Amino acid sequence: MNNKKYVFTRDGNRMHRQYKNVREYVGNKSCKPVGEKKTALVMGAGGFIGSHMVKRLKAEGYWVRGVDLKYPDFSKTAADDFIIGDLRDPNVVKNVMNLTIDWKERGFDQLYQFAADMGGAGFVFTGENDANIMHNSGLINLNVVNECVYRNIKKVFYSSSACMYPAYNQEDPDNPNCEESSAYPAHPDSEYGWEKLFSERIYKAYAKNHGLNVRIARFHNIFGVDGTWEGGREKAPAAMCRKAIMSDGEMEVWGNGLQTRSFLYIDECIEAVWRLMKSTYTEPVNIGSEEMISINDFAQMAIDISGKDIEINNIYGHEFEVKYGFQTPLGVKGRNSDNRLFRKKIGWEPSQSLIDGMKKTYKWIELQIKEKGE
Ligand code: NAD
Repeated sequence: MNNKKYVFTRDGNRMHRQYKNVREYVGNKSCKPVGEKKTALVMGAGGFIGSHMVKRLKAEGYWVRGVDLKYPDFSKTAADDFIIGDLRDPNVVKNVMNLTIDWKERGFDQLYQFAADMGGAGFVFTGENDANIMHNSGLINLNVVNECVYRNIKKVFYSSSACMYPAYNQEDPDNPNCEESSAYPAHPDSEYGWEKLFSERIYKAYAKNHGLNVRIARFHNIFGVDGTWEGGREKAPAAMCRKAIMSDGEMEVWGNGLQTRSFLYIDECIEAVWRLMKSTYTEPVNIGSEEMISINDFAQMAIDISGKDIEINNIYGHEFEVKYGFQTPLGVKGRNSDNRLFRKKIGWEPSQSLIDGMKKTYKWIELQIKEKGE
């Protein structure tokens, strides 16, 4: 072996000379030795689900490297190594996926791909972010899946979304169909959903042609502690809690409030992902709650938790457009997770009620607001 081709990194691992400045370039701060531990790479580790997944992997005894454009917003990362890097850049992807120990490319035991340009309805459905969503998330997934082939990655998790399901099956708020097999003929109602469907297919294509060992989950509205709660990218549960906490008599709810959704608490999502990764099931599968609720009832739940006397003000149509300058970002009329396949193939289902998750989330957001002095 020609050692001149390689340099040693600060953590004692070997790296190809051409990448020698990469750790500095991507801004790595510190790194603990890998030793004999199992290893995981978490992309999007500075985000909501990624940062929770890092904690779980640490609790399971893994050595974890996280990658993101930013550190987690609300807590210190639990990762052994955290690299600030832009996964749209194929060179960054090449380097963060390199795990070379004792002169051998060892490859990560697990890779979790959570990185995406995303947000709630106020980000996904205004129409203003469509190009960025498709371009940025598409590039990340194209880079990652291709590099997996060269990097001896043992198992890959890809986070898809229920937004990939066809809009025509979600017209009836009381009876939406989100069975996994209903995905085609495809007709997602957002570009975000189309990108997720496209990326599902890339991971499947690499599984077929290159033997990639992949797991794909279609998440249905994950929420909870340490999630974005303000700024435009927050999802409905956090927005409802924030509005109830800050309201003095009225809560604005986008749309007529009759649309339905289900929401899964973050701890249950992580448990489901962990179990899916351990399983041998390789087709896309829903991870969500089957406890469907209308948006107005959901708003009322947040109001009840607050104990305040707050009235719901449904805003839509012309009134909404005049106020915000774009059409009411509603999404489909009804959506609920269908967990039959997960139950059958993985033998598990979430059990925590929505109200329990909402109480924890409400308390946490209340604390964030107090700390900000608002
Ligand atoms: P999040 O926005 O909190 O996390 C995504 C992370 O990706 C962010 O920290 C962001 O900085 C990072 N990222 C974006 N572009 C990047 C880039 N170019 N390079 C490196 N990092 C980049 O979102 P989340 O709620 O944790 O969602 C995780 C995944 O699950 C996403 O793929 C999302 O589409 C999917 N999903 C989430 C939900 C949900 O309800 N939270 C529902 C369906 C699907």
